[in-house]
Amino acid sequence: MSATKGNTPSPIDLHALVDNMTLEEQVSLLSGEDFWSLPSIERLAIGKLRVTDGPNGARGAGSLVGGVTAAAFPVGISIGSSWDPELAREIGGALAAEVKSKGAHVSLAPTVNIQRSVSNGRNFECYSEDPELTSALAVGFIKGLQENGIAATIKHFAGNESEIERTTINSEIDQRSLREVYIRPFEDAVKKAKTWAIMTSYNKLNGTYTAEHEWLLNDVLRGDWGFDGVVMSDWFGSRSTELTVNAGLDLEMPGPTRDRGAKLVKAVHAGAVTRETLRHRALNILRLIERTGALAASSELQERANDLPEHRALIRRAGAAGTVLLKNDGILPLQKNSKIAVIGPNAKTAQIMGGGSSQLQPHYRVSPWQGLVEKFGERHLTYALGCTNRRWEPLLEGDVSVEFYASEDFSGGVVHRETMHNATTFWMSPFADGKVDPQHFSTRLRATFVAEETGLHRLGLFSAGYSRAYVDGHLVVDAWTDWTKGRTFFEEGCDEIVGEVKLCAGQAHIIEIEFATKTADNIICPAIRVGIGMPLGETDIVEAAQLASESDIAILFVGRSGEWDTEGSDLENITLPGRQDQLISAVLAANPHTIVVLQTGGPIEMPWIDQAPAVLQAWYPGQECGNAIADVLTGDAEPGGRLPQTFPRQWADNPTNSHDPEVYPGKNGKVRYQEGVFIGHRHYERKAITPLFPFGHGLSYSSYSITDVQVLSNSDGVVASLRIKNTGIRHGSTVVQVYVEPPLSSVERPLRELKGFKKVFLDAAETQTITIHLPHRAFAYFDTSACCWRVEEGHYVLSFGFSAVDLVTSSSVELTASRLPV
Ligand code: BGC
Repeated sequence: MSATKGNTPSPIDLHALVDNMTLEEQVSLLSGEDFWSLPSIERLAIGKLRVTDGPNGARGAGSLVGGVTAAAFPVGISIGSSWDPELAREIGGALAAEVKSKGAHVSLAPTVNIQRSVSNGRNFECYSEDPELTSALAVGFIKGLQENGIAATIKHFAGNESEIERTTINSEIDQRSLREVYIRPFEDAVKKAKTWAIMTSYNKLNGTYTAEHEWLLNDVLRGDWGFDGVVMSDWFGSRSTELTVNAGLDLEMPGPTRDRGAKLVKAVHAGAVTRETLRHRALNILRLIERTGALAASSELQERANDLPEHRALIRRAGAAGTVLLKNDGILPLQKNSKIAVIGPNAKTAQIMGGGSSQLQPHYRVSPWQGLVEKFGERHLTYALGCTNRRWEPLLEGDVSVEFYASEDFSGGVVHRETMHNATTFWMSPFADGKVDPQHFSTRLRATFVAEETGLHRLGLFSAGYSRAYVDGHLVVDAWTDWTKGRTFFEEGCDEIVGEVKLCAGQAHIIEIEFATKTADNIICPAIRVGIGMPLGETDIVEAAQLASESDIAILFVGRSGEWDTEGSDLENITLPGRQDQLISAVLAANPHTIVVLQTGGPIEMPWIDQAPAVLQAWYPGQECGNAIADVLTGDAEPGGRLPQTFPRQWADNPTNSHDPEVYPGKNGKVRYQEGVFIGHRHYERKAITPLFPFGHGLSYSSYSITDVQVLSNSDGVVASLRIKNTGIRHGSTVVQVYVEPPLSSVERPLRELKGFKKVFLDAAETQTITIHLPHRAFAYFDTSACCWRVEEGHYVLSFGFSAVDLVTSSSVELTASRLPV
């Protein structure tokens, strides 16, 4: 099949190939063989297609934790903050190399769900609250992957904007909001970037699981948009046989199959699925296999750790490009000779990514402390932890021996032994050498723990499955007897249960954990995590404040971590966890020259903002975390980020706030998107709420002016041109943003919406003329009754500026009425 003439591969007749396949062979391509691959078909020389998560790296086929190391790139919201589709494209290109290094052909990325609330557990993974910005970045990212031969899988289609009851919730979204906001990034991914794959979401959309959604998959995606790629399910998100196949879902993941295989062959024989439909699904898979070069792929998995200098450099640059300088009274950039107190839970721990399926084993992690040591030398720095921001007890590190039993009650003798290097794992098929049934087994884990201090220790345990922990033979934590579903492990685990035990310094204590599987609600992925720690003393904040008062300046590294910002668990509020707000206030009071560096996956409340002279939001910027942050703090790099999501002053100001829990977080199995298209900055403007920091906001170390705006309409839409000048004395970057205000309308429309933008890099005193093209669609709303895009006749105001509220100049155009096709 992969016959070549000289060096030019001959085009493969996929139609002939699919017609050459037996029914069983066609069916075999429509579900995974294991967690991350499809079966090969030797008879027809069809190689093995492999997929890998996504989106901030290429983890490979290992478990979510551990495995071959990979480059950790900035998370979605950090790329969102760059407002730079070209950068997203570069990242996509580098990720393509990473995917190849893990022997895979398909990246399960990008994540483009819209930041509807401010507390979604996957807020960090998504680009923005805004469809225009999300779409532009997704297009760049997908192009970067696919021009290097790796398929993108844009996800999760559609209506997966929160993590509550994530595999069953019914998202109720009206068609106009879907078209204008929620499915818009998918539309651009298909039309502008020609994405080769798309992943359905877990949830129902208006009553039907998206994996079974005829309107979404066949009518809109394939019909309206002309998609010719593969639609795959989210993991365990396909729950039926003929319903999914007929609705347009090509691939059930992961394998081994639950609903296809022999069941699907039977459904074809019974006439529930036509041979033509089946052929069409198999052809789509073959097209993906061919596009990604997987026809010739080997069955043997080969994974490499590819730690390349060019990836290091790109990640460092991208981290700075996504860092948002929220406030600066002039204290930044830092002077090099200062004596600096480095304080906070995120100073010596590098928070480089969020939690959930995007996790990977990074090549390395540079902490902010290391980044600052690199810039200033250790002698200029002092350190205090201050407080913690943990959600769970610190992970038990070190060798953990594991014994597997092929029964759920430790009977029948040990069938497999292995060693883990810390006490957390997801058991994803295949594991334990295939000697246990992934849904019915038990394990005994054993580790030795040497306490550093004598005193009360807290042992924390949670598991997707039953578990209990013993210390030196005594039961300390029981997550078995009264196991209750909580908010861990993709909603399949219990919440952490903590037991207390007194340990002696220097003594080796034996920690033994028993685990047994339980029937999963949906996602079959037994998992466990064990942590151990000591409570922090009450005096730590006082000591940190003291240290700050003895220094020229203090830098606080605070925020959250992937324990909080994680798939499978929405946040319960947006205050900083633990005693961090107290720590910040105490340090600011002790030394007013204090810079607050935040790392969170979304907005937080800042009760201390008026006292803080400078605040930087660095998100989770990947493995070069500390270097990227130090580059920005010192001014070696420009703070290139602009907020892709509004920061409300208080949680209650966010667009989903309602007295009705059906609006958010969801109740009775449904979540109603009642606010319609009034998401993000549109919401704050409609309600006249002043946010803490508006959408699009971010300071530069330089300053800019916009002049000479001209707006002209032509047959393609409207072209705006303007002159942007760097009025400062340093090289810098800014983002010119264009918001469109429609004429008075019979339908309720947002006051104004972002419709175009351009990231500009300018030397001191440099001026550039830029043009921004706004197609007709930029002026249209979706008319549900006529099922078309409608431009109303009238006067449209275009405002230009540097954030949704910092609009410095405007111009207008008259447009005639028109209808645009879907
Ligand atoms: C996530 C997907 C991911 C898949 C495979 C699911 O839990 O929702 O985004 O690609 O797992 O890890």
